[in-house]
Amino acid sequence: MEPDAKGYFGRYGGRYVPEVLVEPLREVEAAMREAFADDEFWRRYRGLLRDYVGRPTPLTPVPSLRRRAGEALIALKREDCNHTGAHKILNAVGQALLAQRMGKSRLIAETGAGQHGVAVATAGAALGVPVEVYMGAADVERQALNVYLMRLLGARVHEVTSGSRTLKDAINEALRDWAGSARETFYVIGSVVGPHPYPWLVRSFVRIIGDEARAQCLETFGRLPDHVVACVGGGSNAIGIFSAFLEDGQVNLWGVEAGGSDAARLGYHSASLAAGRTGILHGARTLVLMDEHGLIAPTHSVSAGLDYPAVGPEHAYLKETGRVRYVSIHDDDTLKAFRMTARATGIVAALESAHAIAYALRLAAELDASRLILVNLSGRGEKDALRLAGAAHHAQEAAR
Ligand SMILES: *Cc1c(COP(=O)(O)O)cnc(C)c1O
Repeated sequence: MEPDAKGYFGRYGGRYVPEVLVEPLREVEAAMREAFADDEFWRRYRGLLRDYVGRPTPLTPVPSLRRRAGEALIALKREDCNHTGAHKILNAVGQALLAQRMGKSRLIAETGAGQHGVAVATAGAALGVPVEVYMGAADVERQALNVYLMRLLGARVHEVTSGSRTLKDAINEALRDWAGSARETFYVIGSVVGPHPYPWLVRSFVRIIGDEARAQCLETFGRLPDHVVACVGGGSNAIGIFSAFLEDGQVNLWGVEAGGSDAARLGYHSASLAAGRTGILHGARTLVLMDEHGLIAPTHSVSAGLDYPAVGPEHAYLKETGRVRYVSIHDDDTLKAFRMTARATGIVAALESAHAIAYALRLAAELDASRLILVNLSGRGEKDALRLAGAAHHAQEAAR
């Protein structure tokens, strides 16, 4: 399904931006429509995915990942096997190719935890396009490894010291840059969020996840899955896998948000679909976590990649139509699923993805062994293991 001519999915989406950004967005939309109609563009994209990113990624059945014998079978779509370890590279490579086709000489991006910044720095290095990344100063302090990687890959990292010194301030700075430099600059957005056409543009690059997974299920199991489960931050890995199954009415689709430490208390979670209200954030009308005064609420999640106070507009629409059901998983259950997956399968999942696994384990316990649950394992968890190891070390020191 495409958004309508103004970029709406039902009531959600659109283009709520200052006047100076209307023309740059129109230019991206026109270039995108033209590129998408050109087989040569897709040949280049698929060629890079095969030769550089390492696709197709496997589909791995994990019969050992269940609490009791006789429960439903879980199969993992292995996005952790992408170069750089998550699905974000698909979008970064796709937008970088589009930028090159448009003759842009410079890529800019915003980043929160740094994962998107690293993906864009990687795509820029691979394609020979200079990259500048805006990152809140608070995030720069917390995410030293990703800042180091971006610089190692040749990107310039701008520390943003305004406001709360986090992602939303970085987005504001990136938009300010773009407003003054659109002639030579392409703005690479990191999820299915932002003004039209970005939610649609990003989806078009990540839907390969679902296209592959659907074909792999048919080949491996001779049938479609009964359930598909994916975690939702901005929503790109989830849209990526869901989009191949939207027309298959018998396939249940589940989006899993970060329930944080308390999914019922604003400020302690990042569950925008469950607790958000209709509002405008980052150029689109969508569901946003806000307080009673309409101010953006603080968010929390054990996984940095899900810690975002809104969600892509297409998810708000899919919730409204009922085609996708959205649930949340707490930090504690996420950590349990993270450890259990490592032991039972030898796969260290990203904490973001562990939210989806935790929900799949709940579903599996209610279903019999004839049922199949497909989980999008959006990324690998070494980045989280490094942080958890540090926390364990500090706890040990403190206990001495
Ligand atoms: C960034 C990230 C996410 C969340 O982003 P979406 O746009 O919701 O997919 C999920 N998993 C991993 C591994 C990530 O790096």
